[in-house]
Amino acid sequence: MTQNGFRKVIMPARYVQGAGAVREIGYYAKQFGDRPFVVSGKTAFSRVKSELLASLTAAGVPMIGHDDSVTECTYEKIDEVMRDADRLGADLIIGCGGGKAVDTAKAAADKLGIPVMTFPTQCATNADQMADAVIFTEDHRFVEDYYLSRAPVLVLVDTEIAGLAPVRFLVQGMGDALASGFEKPAYAATMKARKCEDQAATAALEVNLECFSVLMAHGIQAKKDAERGKVTESLEVVIEAIKLMSGFGFGGGGCAAAHAIHNGLTALPGIKRKHGEIVAYGTIVQMVLEKRPMGEIEMVMRWCRELGLPVSLSELGDVDAELLPVAAERACDPKDTMSNMPFPVTPTSVLDAMREVERLAEVLA
Ligand SMILES: [Zn+2]
Repeated sequence: MTQNGFRKVIMPARYVQGAGAVREIGYYAKQFGDRPFVVSGKTAFSRVKSELLASLTAAGVPMIGHDDSVTECTYEKIDEVMRDADRLGADLIIGCGGGKAVDTAKAAADKLGIPVMTFPTQCATNADQMADAVIFTEDHRFVEDYYLSRAPVLVLVDTEIAGLAPVRFLVQGMGDALASGFEKPAYAATMKARKCEDQAATAALEVNLECFSVLMAHGIQAKKDAERGKVTESLEVVIEAIKLMSGFGFGGGGCAAAHAIHNGLTALPGIKRKHGEIVAYGTIVQMVLEKRPMGEIEMVMRWCRELGLPVSLSELGDVDAELLPVAAERACDPKDTMSNMPFPVTPTSVLDAMREVERLAEVLA
């Protein structure tokens, strides 16, 4: 990555969202290629197969092959997808499913030098629009972030498919998106002070801040609507907040304390929650580290509690208090995103902030 103090924005070329949008996937695919290859997980593919294939065929760009066996985004799987897509002469990859499938699709397309479209089937992640792929080992150990030369050419979100998937995914997605309203400003302030590194564009920062307002105004209603199986305006705007606004323009960067705390906690045994849920807790810890007004912290904690997002350590799983210093140490690893905070954060200050969050959670009850 170059470090020259330039303002940089990276985002998808096109974003389409709505109930029944899957019917248009063929129309858009045709703009980017003739020979689409689909990459997905098994469940996702079985859910959307008939509509996806019908739309591609009707547009005259039938699927030429697929791999529906993604369970983890590994370099081995990326190579396998590349080989198969290349052998069949694919000129477009469609990543369909959750984060692992779309990350595999994005990385394979990037290495092949062909465009990628993403078609998410749930809302736990914003991987669909990001210009990076998170690489793991087969046994789910983090390897690295693989940065792509460009973001997907199209993100197509059918809200009847992604919005009405099991509601826990929507809640996890809101937890992850919550962080963007705090991490992006922290990241932007740090880069501004360092001068030489990539600068956040004001436009990207504003969209990420607005994401937080949308979540506060519509998040709880969106969950209720999804539970009733109804695609409403609240659900639509929250899906846009998760899929487009959180991370908008930041490519794969822009994280700070919330994700670093997530990374520290996942090093401990006994953590039972998923990525977005742990990030929501990490966001509350970041707010305490930032000495945000008590009213603001309380508002976010109440919102999390109402959605079922964790606001205390005991809600994250069976966390051994003795091991918390290990998590705090790991969260402050200089290679992690804690270094994107605009002030020094030490393992001691992380532990103090966690203790304060415990106290606030008790008062909240
Ligand atoms: Zn995240």
